[in-house]
Amino acid sequence: MSADPDCLFCKIIAGAIPAEIVHDGERTLAFRDINPQAPMHVLVVPRAHAHNAADSAEADAAMFAEIATTARTVARAEGYDDYRLVFNTGAGVGQTVFHTHGHVLAGRPMGWPPG
Ligand code: AMP
Ligand code: ZN
Repeated sequence: MSADPDCLFCKIIAGAIPAEIVHDGERTLAFRDINPQAPMHVLVVPRAHAHNAADSAEADAAMFAEIATTARTVARAEGYDDYRLVFNTGAGVGQTVFHTHGHVLAGRPMGWPPG
């Protein structure tokens, strides 16, 4: 899907809203979460607008794979081999921005199962 003019992350991708970008990939962009939940909290988003991880994977599998490799790249760049990669899917589990994003969290102990 092409950019959605009402989508917050499409606006960040377009440069219309500022963000602290940590990785600029061919198909993906990574930037710091504005409300970090761990010492490292980065969001990896596909440049192409889609509502959630499954929709992105269906639209372009290689692009979806780049989200996973970008998560590893940004975690390693900050010294973390271990990190959590989370895709909230649906408002019922806390998704608030309906442009696919992987949360990359690292730097503190993390409970399992998640709360
Ligand atoms: P989710 O709740 O899984 O949809 O995650 C959305 C995330 O986007 C939240 O962790 C927010 O803190 C984050 N967020 C919202 N607005 C911005 C922004 N302008 N820049 C960076 N992160 C943002
Ligand atoms: Zn979007």
